[in-house]
Amino acid sequence: MPDNRVVQGRMVTPKALAEMIEDERVMDAESITEVDRECPECGGDVLEVGYMPSVTEFVTGSKCQDCDWADTDRE
Ligand SMILES: [Zn+2]
Repeated sequence: MPDNRVVQGRMVTPKALAEMIEDERVMDAESITEVDRECPECGGDVLEVGYMPSVTEFVTGSKCQDCDWADTDRE
């Protein structure tokens, strides 16, 4: 599937990436996008994915491809 990306040496789907960011199961996830941003921890490439942790919430999460760093747009 072309939408999958390698993150920390593992091939992940958008949903699997969202679950790495959220650290729990998510309902649904959109396509992974590559963003022009460097990881603040290691300077690696950052991916973004929009996902729904629950029916009422939509979050955009960021995750480094090389280390454990992750962030969301939650206030
Ligand atoms: Zn990193």
